[in-house]
Amino acid sequence: MTDDAVELPADLDLEAVREALLEWYEADHRPFPWRETDDPYAILVCEVMSQQTQLDRVVDAWEAFLERWPTTADLAAADRADVVGFWSGHRLGYNNRAKYLHEAASQVEAEYDGAFPREPDELQELMGVGPYTANAVASFAFNEGDAVVDTNVKRVCYRAFDVPDDDAAFERAATALMPDGRSRAWNNAIMELGGVACTQTPRCDEAGCPWREWCGAYASGDFTAPDVPTQPSFDGSRRQFRGRIVRTLREYDELELDVLGPRIRVDYNPQGEHGRAWLLELLADLETDGLVTLETRDGEPVARLRR
Ligand code: SF4
Repeated sequence: MTDDAVELPADLDLEAVREALLEWYEADHRPFPWRETDDPYAILVCEVMSQQTQLDRVVDAWEAFLERWPTTADLAAADRADVVGFWSGHRLGYNNRAKYLHEAASQVEAEYDGAFPREPDELQELMGVGPYTANAVASFAFNEGDAVVDTNVKRVCYRAFDVPDDDAAFERAATALMPDGRSRAWNNAIMELGGVACTQTPRCDEAGCPWREWCGAYASGDFTAPDVPTQPSFDGSRRQFRGRIVRTLREYDELELDVLGPRIRVDYNPQGEHGRAWLLELLADLETDGLVTLETRDGEPVARLRR
């Protein structure tokens, strides 16, 4: 283990965790148009717009902006008042951001001969480009970024791997999770996880979260997070029991139904309300979600975690 990995559980199978997330992202994700480009200018415009505007609303503005000023040369040559007018017309937040964008385009033209710098440090030299935006452009345009650490990523790391609520710890954990040389795919994937699955009210099962098997919050049923100080209001009990099943099966290779039951509920009673039928229903759900396999051996149901 490297020093960077100290924030993650010592026995975490990093390769499996990475593969699971990348596969989940590649199988299905929100088709934002900026995910289809590696043009640093287009990505910068998107990043600046999304600082104050919901992503769904950014789509139209972003497309219109690029249609009007398709390159840094076009934007640099534009009248600043027109750029600011566009910005306020599309309700994109502080007009200063439009001015900075215009200035940044002029810098790229004048200082970099129209070719964007590639490294986060250099990108930060551009007007209005802070560390987060610089890293996003380096990742999504050049695949040369560091791990993104935003609110969504912090929430995911806190819940899944019990990373303490501390910026340096989040940074180390996010860095350790990211596979080398994969910043474009990885940062998109982990941000998508925080954006559609590990939301403030989490959608672990509905979104098919690929980290349920390892997730501390899923196992314990405690879904608080740095930006979610009290338990989110959803019917967590079923999810909590599913989490307990996953955690228990992770400890034991496999368990017969009536051996598993008492480990999930102290009041487990095979023929009672919370007995075999109740447990089999939860296990069937987990099997449908691809987390558990259930087989019958000598007439007895036996559950194990799918590997
Ligand atoms: S299992 Fe739920 S809480 Fe855990 S990382 Fe996935 S969505 Fe977040």
